[in-house]
This record gives sequence, C-alpha cells and structure tokens, in this order.
Amino acid sequence: MGMGRNALVTGAASGIGAACAMLLAERGVGRLVLVDLDGAALDALDLPGCEVLRFIGDVADPALWERIEVEAGPLDHAVLNAGIGRGAPIANLSFETWRELMTVNLDGMFLSLKTALRLAADGASLVLTASVAGIKPEIGNAAYSTSKAAVIQLAKVAAKEGAARGIRVNAIAPGGVDTPIWDKMPFFAGIVAQHGGDRAEALAAMGKGTPLGRFASAAEIAAQVAFLLSDDAATITGTVLVSDGGYLL
Ligand code: NAD
Repeated sequence: MGMGRNALVTGAASGIGAACAMLLAERGVGRLVLVDLDGAALDALDLPGCEVLRFIGDVADPALWERIEVEAGPLDHAVLNAGIGRGAPIANLSFETWRELMTVNLDGMFLSLKTALRLAADGASLVLTASVAGIKPEIGNAAYSTSKAAVIQLAKVAAKEGAARGIRVNAIAPGGVDTPIWDKMPFFAGIVAQHGGDRAEALAAMGKGTPLGRFASAAEIAAQVAFLLSDDAATITGTVLVSDGGYLL
C-alpha cells in the first residue's frame, strides 16, 4: 500500500479523523498537517515518528486556510473530514441550524478542498468524508443529508478537475460509526436512556438495524480511507465508497 510523505487531515482531533491521522502515521506518512477546533485533543494524539503541524481553527474560516496555504507545504494526501450533525424535521428546522450545518459541512469542505487542491502535488490523492445520509434521504436530517449530498458532488467535480494532474478525489460514505459525534446529538441521549444509560448498548441497538448488524469503528473507516489514498486505488477517482454494513440495501 504505497503512501506519500505529506498528508492533511481535518477534524483530526476525534473519531474518524483521529483514526485516520494515527493510521497514516503508522503507514509511513512522515508529515501530518492536522486541523481541528479542539487544540487540546489534537495535542493529545499519539503520532510517534511523525512531524506534526497543528492548525487550531474553524474549517469554515477562510483566514485559517490562507494561513495553511502559506505554511503547510505540498501535500500527497488529504482527508477532508471535519463535519457536524444536527437534525429536525424540515418544518421544525431552524434557519440557524440549517446555516450552521451548511457553514461547517459545506463551506468548510469547499475551503478545505480548495486549499488541498492548491497544495496538492501531481498524483496526490484526496478523500472527502460524506455519509450515507448524502445518498439516502433521512427523516429529520435534511440539513445534514443535503450538505453531505453536496460533498459527494464536490468530490466528483474535483475528481474531474484534478485528473489532468493525476490527482484522485474520492468520497467515503460511512453509515453508523462509533465516534463521539453521537454524543453531541440530543436524540441520542434519549436512546442511551432507553438502554439504561449504557452508551455501548445504545450504539449496538442502532447497529442491529443494518444487515451486518453493527456500526463500524473509526479504525475500520480509517483503513478504508487509507486504501483510497494509497496506490492500491490508483485507478479509482470520483467514486463514493459506501461503508454502511448494508444499510443502503
Ligand atoms: P467527531 O465529532 O468524533 O469528530 C469530528 C471532529 O471535527 C471533531 O474533532 C471536531 O472538533 C471537528 N470539527 C467539527 N467542526 C469543526 C470545524 N468547524 N472546524 C474544525 N474542526 C471541526 O465525528 P466523526 O464521527 O469522527 O465525524 C467525522 C466525519 O464523519 C464528519 O464529517 C461526519 O459527518 C462523518 N460521518 C460520521 C458518521 C458517524 O456515524 N460517526 C457517519 C457518517 C459520516
């Protein structure tokens, strides 16, 4: 699995992004450019043998990306992954929540992608984190679903634009993944309460609703991202890798 030396990961302090940063370091990426709002959690990542540049800030802030463009250096890989989830049925969805989702998940992704493409070496590979919610409409998830559908289209346009320089761009669309994102969603507290306060049991119960009967781990998603980034995926661009335990079937 051939990997380059320099990689950018956004949303690197937690969940899928943290798992990607750790796996890329393990697979021999020598220099990681990590972006997240949470500086303390970024500092806590264990990335032995890797040179690490940390950028603490909001992916939707153009000034952050201006700094990164000047300071980060060339990139062989990028995992554009920062994102948030919030939901309510459309009739009850506040404009504020809609804008918040679009700002982080879409504006933030556009700015990340723009800078990543400007820093990308010829032959670089990029993965954007979308979601099955960007493919299957989900009740109560309009803003998130719409933002992730747009991320998929953004990845495809970037794949066409980057191809002349051998740059590959793919999206990954996870189904349920066991990460802290769930703990930030109010409805999840209700599901945990239904399971006597046992978070693991609540996630397990949600996972049972899929054909394979469970959620993915962040490490499993990171391994699939690493495949898409690697030379093993040299002819794959503009695709959406669905990793959902069969949820979409
Ligand atoms: P997470 O909450 O564990 O991690 C997300 C990270 O992104 C956090 O460290 C957070 O601080 C950072 N972040 C959030 N907003 C940011 C901003 N504006 N600027 C910079 N950093 C910001 O969540 P996760 O589950 O690892 O999610 C990663 C991605 O995977 C997201 O795009 C999410 O939509 C997507 N996803 C997650 C699941 C799931 O079930 N966990 C499923 C499908 C897709």
